[in-house]
Amino acid sequence: MANWNEDVITYRRELHQIPELAFQEYETSQFLVDTLRHLGLNPTRIADTGVMVDIEGSKPGACIAIRADMDGLPLEEDTDLTFSSHHSGVMHACGHDGHMAIALALASRFKEQRNFPGKIRVFFQPAEERPPGGAPKMIAQGCLEGVDEVLGLHLWAGDPVGKLGIRSGPLMANADQFSIHIRGKGGHGSEPADTKDAVLIASLIVTNLQTIVSRRLNAFDTAVVSCGTIHAGATFNIIAETAEITGTVRTLSKSVQERIKDEIQHIASTTAQLYQAEATLSYEYGYPAVVNHEAAVNRIEKAVRPVVEVFHPDPAMGGEDFAYYLREKPGAFFFLGCRPEPESYPHHSPHFQMNEKALPLGVESLYLSAMSFLEGR
Ligand code: MN
Repeated sequence: MANWNEDVITYRRELHQIPELAFQEYETSQFLVDTLRHLGLNPTRIADTGVMVDIEGSKPGACIAIRADMDGLPLEEDTDLTFSSHHSGVMHACGHDGHMAIALALASRFKEQRNFPGKIRVFFQPAEERPPGGAPKMIAQGCLEGVDEVLGLHLWAGDPVGKLGIRSGPLMANADQFSIHIRGKGGHGSEPADTKDAVLIASLIVTNLQTIVSRRLNAFDTAVVSCGTIHAGATFNIIAETAEITGTVRTLSKSVQERIKDEIQHIASTTAQLYQAEATLSYEYGYPAVVNHEAAVNRIEKAVRPVVEVFHPDPAMGGEDFAYYLREKPGAFFFLGCRPEPESYPHHSPHFQMNEKALPLGVESLYLSAMSFLEGR
């Protein structure tokens, strides 16, 4: 019999060495196909670099799907791991190597077990890190066809090993981006009266945007408005004619999302008008919020209790394209603690590491969650 607790760590270390960027996961895809074939399974390719495999139980029943994301990040790994990245400038710094390893070990476990009702589908999705994300393409190419429920997890370095965070309703945010283009009138730094200073107007817009969350939203609504860049000007004695601000908006509901979009539009254009300039907003919707289904959450909470301690986290304001699956099918997404000792670094840091003791718990948690669904408990 396979030893999943060890295999899952071996898989993760292999995958950690071959990180690839979004939509370019060719070597990763081949590793997954080879490993699944070696386990006696019959994987198929989907969405270019994606991989999908079905494991049939011994009697008819429902179908549950498990999703793992595949991509790494454009970072030069800076850890002292013996199995660090072989691909310069690319790193698994978010834990997706762990997600794939867990999914492989889970497939292996169901393949050996066989005596379960229904069917498990395990699918590996390209490009979680880069909008528009791999999920819409996976769905368009049929990864949810015949599926009754879909589950996914994210290893979470902020939480200790042994903790599983899940909640009903929104778990992760609508993650949008915007840019504001300001057109003023440039001129000599010594003669400001003849100009419409784009640097000053951009500064006022950034300042006024801070009032959206603090003064326009209901105190019980949750949102983040952050300006990430501001670009303007050429040198010290020229008043800039144009300026560009970019930023991100994070919300948990459609109504707050639309409200904020309208407020940004209003603030940008009226602030610019005040100084006879113009501002135009372009607003791009990103991944929608990850909204968990209550029945799935309640069942999973009960099912995983023998192996992990469940808690109800605040929603994370990050984005995740797992959201698209939960718009199509019932299911849930959860966080699994993987905080390393003695020191931990944030996800997307070149120093990021995980505590591998979390990996067998990931296999076990998904196994119990899937079995409770298939057995109708
Ligand atoms: Mn991630």
